[in-house]
Amino acid sequence: MYLVPSDRAVSVVYPERILFAARHVQSWLALKLDGRTFRLASPAVRIVRSDKPARWFSSPEGTAGFNGFYRKTLDELGRLGAGRLNDPEARVIVYVDADHACGQSGAGGNGVAIVSANDLRGISGEAIVPACRQANTAEIAGRCRWIGGMAHELLHTLGLIHPDRSPACQTPQCRSAALMMHGYITYPNATLLADDLAVLNRTPLLSTRSVGRLADCAGP
Ligand SMILES: [Zn+2]
Repeated sequence: MYLVPSDRAVSVVYPERILFAARHVQSWLALKLDGRTFRLASPAVRIVRSDKPARWFSSPEGTAGFNGFYRKTLDELGRLGAGRLNDPEARVIVYVDADHACGQSGAGGNGVAIVSANDLRGISGEAIVPACRQANTAEIAGRCRWIGGMAHELLHTLGLIHPDRSPACQTPQCRSAALMMHGYITYPNATLLADDLAVLNRTPLLSTRSVGRLADCAGP
């Protein structure tokens, strides 16, 4: 979903880039899961207009904690009748064209992942605008990193968690390669752990399907 605040214009580029990223993750997952992956909705990208300005999504009331932007957006999706938590038949990643505040971040859970304007900029090859005064290590340009971000958040909606406490991923090498740790930065060179594969092999939302070859995520 591409959620457009009242003071932002609807981009013709962003839906195409979201679709490109979704197809990339679809093909990447099939390579990791012996052909099992997700099906895209039709149309794959739903454009939803909000009557709230971009600032509202990160504005103070009810936004304490890193997931304040997530909760605020969920409220708005509920009001618009546009999103459904824990839909047994679908998962959704929402691209909100609004910047989160310093200290907030994208998040995924309950079947819905929510990311912000930098994710739209990132998958579109635009410059990243740091949320705090200084950019953090994740706020780097490069389409692959932001498509990796989509993969990371989408897999949260399928039940994957950060393996920071997993005995199987305590080395720096594992942490930098694991998609559910920092591997989204090196995506598509990222790994899924045995625990991740076990969860993904159980979900009925994935099945064997023929998908396109893995494109160059850096794009044309
Ligand atoms: Zn995460």
